[in-house]
Formats: sequence, C-alpha cells, structure tokens
Amino acid sequence: MSDDQSESYAFSADINQLLSLIINTFYSNKEIFLRELISNSSDALDKIRYQSLTDSSVLDSEPEMQIKLIPDKANNTLTIEDSGIGMTKADLVNNLGTIAKSGTKAFMEALTAGADISMIGQFGVGFYSAYLVADKVEVVSKNNDDECYTWISEAGGSFTITKTNDSGLGRGTRIILHLKEDMSEYLEERRIKDLVKKHSEFIGFPIKLYTEKTTEKEVTDDDDDDDEDEGDDDKPKIEEVDDEEEAKKEKKTKKIKEVSHEWEHLNNMKPLWMRKADDVTQDEYAAFYKSISNDWEEHAAVKHFSVEGQLEFRAVLFCPKRAPFDMFEGGAKKKHNSIKLYVRRVFIMDNCEDLMPEWLAFIKGVVDSEDLPLNISRETLQQNKILRVIKKNLVKKCIEMFSDLTENEDAYNKFYEAFSKNLKLGVHEDSTNRAKLAKLLRYHSTKSGDDSMTSLEDYVGRMDDKQPGIYYITGESKRSVETSPFLEKLKKKGYEVLYMVDPIDEYAVQQLKEFDGKKLLSATKEGLQLEEDEDEKKAFEEAKARTEGLCKLMKEVLDDKVEKVVVSNRLADSPCCLVTGEYGWSANMERIMKAQALRDSSQSAYMSSKKTMEINPTNSIITALREKADADQSDKTVKDLIWLLYDTSLLTSGFSLDEPATFASRIHRLVKLGLSIDDDDADDDDDDDMDDLPALDDDDEGESAMEQVD
Ligand code: ADP
Repeated sequence: MSDDQSESYAFSADINQLLSLIINTFYSNKEIFLRELISNSSDALDKIRYQSLTDSSVLDSEPEMQIKLIPDKANNTLTIEDSGIGMTKADLVNNLGTIAKSGTKAFMEALTAGADISMIGQFGVGFYSAYLVADKVEVVSKNNDDECYTWISEAGGSFTITKTNDSGLGRGTRIILHLKEDMSEYLEERRIKDLVKKHSEFIGFPIKLYTEKTTEKEVTDDDDDDDEDEGDDDKPKIEEVDDEEEAKKEKKTKKIKEVSHEWEHLNNMKPLWMRKADDVTQDEYAAFYKSISNDWEEHAAVKHFSVEGQLEFRAVLFCPKRAPFDMFEGGAKKKHNSIKLYVRRVFIMDNCEDLMPEWLAFIKGVVDSEDLPLNISRETLQQNKILRVIKKNLVKKCIEMFSDLTENEDAYNKFYEAFSKNLKLGVHEDSTNRAKLAKLLRYHSTKSGDDSMTSLEDYVGRMDDKQPGIYYITGESKRSVETSPFLEKLKKKGYEVLYMVDPIDEYAVQQLKEFDGKKLLSATKEGLQLEEDEDEKKAFEEAKARTEGLCKLMKEVLDDKVEKVVVSNRLADSPCCLVTGEYGWSANMERIMKAQALRDSSQSAYMSSKKTMEINPTNSIITALREKADADQSDKTVKDLIWLLYDTSLLTSGFSLDEPATFASRIHRLVKLGLSIDDDDADDDDDDDMDDLPALDDDDEGESAMEQVD
C-alpha cells in the first residue's frame, strides 16, 4: 500500500445505528464528549506508563506523558492529543468501528428506556460521543509497534484508514474534531477550561491547553520596522491605538497588540487519596468518583482511609447508587472497572480482581500501596501476600461502609434494593465475615408489613424465649409464600416467618445456618418441632393413633412419589402438605435448579427433593377420608382422592405437577359432579387411560356403579 492510498471500511451494523442515534437525537448536554475523549487519552497513557515499568525504552518515542488540547478557530477544529500507547492499524480498524462491544446494544436499549446520552462512558463506547459536536473526526495514531495511521469518518456508514508518514506524532493519538457549525463554543478557552475543571479534574496526567495571549506593548514609531523583521510563527498583529494623550507626547509612540501562544496547565494533579479525608469536600469526592467510574450520578457512600504499620496503603472506596447494567451476566467474568491499583502514586492496573472478592465487584475505588513492587504483574499479584492483606482490609471497610448506611433508613433501602444479591452472595462465600454480613440482611416477614423489611436483629428482638429459632420460608414470590399452608401453624402460634423469595436466598441460608446463636429453621422442611402444651399434645397423640392406618394406605397408593406419609402438627387448616428433607433441596430450590437449563443434571438425582407427606389429623377432609378408608380399604374413590390431595399439595407446597393432564382429568370429574353431569361414555373412555380412576360421582352411596362392573 502506498502512503496516500486509503482503505475504506464499513462500520458494524450496531455501531452504525449508535452513530445515527448520537447524531440525530436532540440532546443538549453535548459537552460530555470532552470528558470521554480525555478519559480515553488517560487510559492510553496509563497503558504506556505500565509498559514502561518493565521496559523503559517504550517511552523513547516520546518521553513526555501528557494530554494536549488545541482549539483552532481558523480551521474550526478542536484537537485532543495524547502521548499514550497509541493504536496500530489493526487497533484502529477493530476498536473504532468494526467490532461492536456488548455495551453498544445495551447502551441503545438503555437510551430507548429513557437513559441519558451522558451515560455513554459506562457502556464502553465513549469515543463515539465525538459525533455529538463534530461532523467529521480524524484519529491520527502511532503505536510503537506500527507505523502512523489516520482514521477518518463523517459517520454515514464507513470510515477510511490511511498511512500517514508526516504526522509529527512520536507516539500516541491525535483526535481532530471538525466541529459542527454551531459548536464553536468548544473553541473558547474559557469553556474548555471550565469543562476540564468540571469533568476531568482528577486525570493523573497533565492536561495542557494551547492558549492565545494578547499583550499590549508600547513602541515608538521607529520600532515599526524592527517588529516586522521579527516575523516568526506567532507573528504579532499590529493595531494602531487611537489615543489622544499618546499623540500629544513629544516622541510619537503607539501601542501594539502582540499575540503569543503558550501551554496552560489545567489540572491539579495531587491525587485526592493522598489528601486528608477531612480536607476533601463531598463535591470533590463526587467529582472524583465520576471520573474513575464513568458514572453520571454521584456515589451513595464513600470510605477514605489509610492503613499504617507493617503494611502501608491508602484507599478511597465508593459504593455506587445503582448496580452496573451487566453485573450478573453469566459466562466469562465481566470486566468491571472496579478498583484501580497504584503503587507509590504510579498507576499499575484497572480492575484489579485480586483486590476485591466477586461479591464486591460493584465497589469502585483506588488503592495506593507503599509496599508492592512497581513491576508487579497480574500473574504475580495472585500469590502476593501484601495484596491479600490489603484485600482483607478492603472487605472490612466495605462492610463498615454498608453498616454506616443502615443509619439512614431511606439510603439503606435504596442500597439494599440495588445490592442485596451481592450481600447474599457474600454470606454464601465469605465465612469470615458471614456474621457481620448477616446483620445487613433485610426480609419481608409475616410481621414486617408490606412496605418495610426486617433485619435479623429486629426479628430476634421480637422472639419470645420459647421460640426454637428463626423461621423462614423460601419461594418464588412474596405473594406465593404469604398464603402457604406451611405458615398456618406458625402464624397461629404468633411466630414470625421471614419470606426468602430471591433465588440466592436458598444458597445464602444454607451457609448462614444461624444468627446470634439462633438456628434458622425452614418452614417447609422436615423436622419442624413445634412446642405444644399438654392438652394439645394429648389430643394430637390420639388423633395420630387414629390416623396411622390412613397414612399406611396413602403411602401404598402414592408409592415412590413420597418417601413416607406421617401425621404432623405443622398444619392448622390445610389437610396436608409435602415437606422436603432437612439437607436436600426445598421445592423452591428444585424450581430454581430446573430453570437452569445448562446445569449439570447429575446432581439432581440425589439432591432433588425427597418428599414427605405430612397430614393434619384434625382436618375434616382427613377425618372423613379416614372413616371412608377404615370402612373399605379397597375403595377406589379413596384412592382417587388421595391422588387429588397429593397433587394439590404439590401445588400449595411450591412444587410443579408431574402430570398436569391426569390432574386435570381428576378435577374435571369433580366439576362434572358439581354440575350433575352423568357422562357414562366419557367415563368409559377415561377408563381406558386411567385404570385407577373410578368415577367420583355417586360416591355417597358407597360403591360406585363402575366398581360393581369391575
Ligand atoms: P472504551 O474506552 O470504554 O473501551 P471507547 O469507545 O471510548 O470505549 O474506545 C474504544 C477503544 O478505542 C478503547 O478501548 C481503546 O482501545 C481505543 N482508544 C480510544 N481512544 C484511544 C486513545 N486516545 N488512545 C489509544 N486507544 C484509544
């Protein structure tokens, strides 16, 4: 390819769509483009500085690391130039147009859902914000491993790449924005300075603005010729100054205006984390948070601290207001820009995974260590002891930060809504901090009311001495568990029950096991011991003895559908329910596992719920059924009713039906009975399918007609 030959490329469809959105949407807050481009420059500088830690020669191509802003009124362009890592030709093609990132689509969806264009940085497509103010963008870039290339696009579906030998760029990227007609405000020094102050104050590299200075100078008329001789690049403009007093002077002088240029340093680079926490204002924290997180909103909480002693480091940690759009997206681990690691003020890496456990991946912040070696790499980090100690401290501080938030109920509710899943994941994974994390959990309960949730501490505070533990029920939704038969007796006894209706609760509660010395007891599992007084006990024992025969019969009918059938005092109103083993999956867990299509199914064989049917001996359906069964063990109607009770228990206990059609047939017979339909033909048909199902009608007369035929 010869130097002046350019290659044309088509933007990927997603990016094309994004570009037309950016160009065509009416949007007034266009200024954010500068923040995005400066942030890209800063990232590129971080990358080259990181490389230089192990190989200082990478800086030879351009020793100074900085960002320059050059407004050019004559050409109506604003240039942002950095001496960062630069892009090779392949980088230009891939990063700026052909490979769409997941954020491209996500951002457009968010926009349609009412998000704001200023959120663009969070979705990793900030570069394209250049088209908010420019109708044509040139990106000249030089990476140490390649020649210099220029990317140019006026949007419209394509861009070109041209080899550029005379750019004068030693290393880095120069972005030339050809501003739209009405965007000349971004050529004004004042405006640029304000923007840098507002959005880019905490960039860790010098940001320099190419400024124009006009000075007035008094010269005698004779000097005129000399001035013209000086003519260099910054040729001064000479203007006559009409000044009467001047004219009166003996020797004739005049004032001339001299225009000169200089680089003005715009940002104060003392890192915020090196200052004393007391000296930093809330606004400064907010600005700093926005600059490291790309968030458009302020943080919800901040923790700024230093640790000294055997090990020394400083850190600023922020809790955002919202969860990132892709927090729990499966598959490969998402890269979140969470913690930036510095060593003695030198940026080492973004997203240092070894500093935060997964459940705290939403925390943003900066850690600056005095002890780590500068040339530490991602690989060696994992084994690093210092890092492990730092991590332990960070987790501790995060938990403190969340605990502080609980003091303001409103703020804590918002936090909890956004991050309760993370806390629960923490309970599941972090055995060291489990007890502390448990204090942060909140649940709706039988006593919390609809609008508020209770903490475990408050629950325990309400418990009476007799209560054996903390009761909870897991299920699909608050509505579905609220009316569960499992709660009947507990409610009657005045025991509070926590509603755990987030899938992750199932996992968390298995690890939590107890709180403040009180056991967590599942309302839907075997072994629920309910205290009873002597009279109750006696009545129960009698009813139990009477019902033993029915239990045996039910087990025979249901066969391997249930582990066993037992009489219990768990229920108050319902006739029966299905409970699961104390250590096996609950009905809810079974539902969750079934929903995970790609799960390894080998587990389900031994974990899937072994169901025990518990029957309520005082319930009228059960007593009537018992009497019927006692009268005739082989009564087919009894058998049929047992199946119906089993199926309805599946539903009320949170399971799904194995054979919905069979269940439906049984119900239809009941319906016919209700409607007094005597449908013999249909019965005959059904009989072919289901030998076990005699007609339900005329059961009051004892044996049915069909029984007699059989
Ligand atoms: P993000 O920066 O969030 O990844 P952008 O759309 O802003 O998304 O940029 C896309 C990519 O282009 C960056 O990831 C980076 O690789 C490259 N890039 C953008 N600006 C620069 C720059 N000034 N120097 C080097 N690479 C850059």
